[in-house]
Amino acid sequence: MGWIHEDSSSTHEAGFVAVFDDGTESRGQTAVDGVVHEIVGESGESRPSAEIVGWVLRCHCHSTFPAPSSWDDPDRWTRCPSESLEDLPRKRVFAPDDEIADITFRGDVVEAAQAVWMREHVLPHGCIDAIRRAATARRTAEDQLDEAVAVARRLGRSWTDIGRAAGMTRQSANERWRDRT
Ligand SMILES: [Zn+2]
Repeated sequence: MGWIHEDSSSTHEAGFVAVFDDGTESRGQTAVDGVVHEIVGESGESRPSAEIVGWVLRCHCHSTFPAPSSWDDPDRWTRCPSESLEDLPRKRVFAPDDEIADITFRGDVVEAAQAVWMREHVLPHGCIDAIRRAATARRTAEDQLDEAVAVARRLGRSWTDIGRAAGMTRQSANERWRDRT
């Protein structure tokens, strides 16, 4: 694929996948008699790149949790037949037959696609990931706190001292931990 975005717990790798009118996806490019073709089959079958009707914007995501997954822009990026119909914010891209192989390297197309990818996928994914990380950290901290209080009680420390250390009143500390220690 192409573009990489990494944050503390995830790696995203996104790019365009060319598609044909029957939904067949390209697996890569090749040349047949000097004409650019898309590889479409396991055993190297190919179709002329000029028959491409559009592109799927796709991300492969690797994060700590959940397991690796992927994301497709639900809107197909459409190939339009003339320059005057091109409208990148509406995901319409003009790609003449002799330039179609390079369309996903065109600066303004890449910029428009990356903006969608960040806004619709990477950022929403990241904020949920941040909640997961924080919730996991909180559970770990709660376990450590319970254990530390249990040790303090075994050593005979008072609820007043424990409460002060935990940032709460003697009464609250007693209520929270008396049945657990
Ligand atoms: Zn992703």
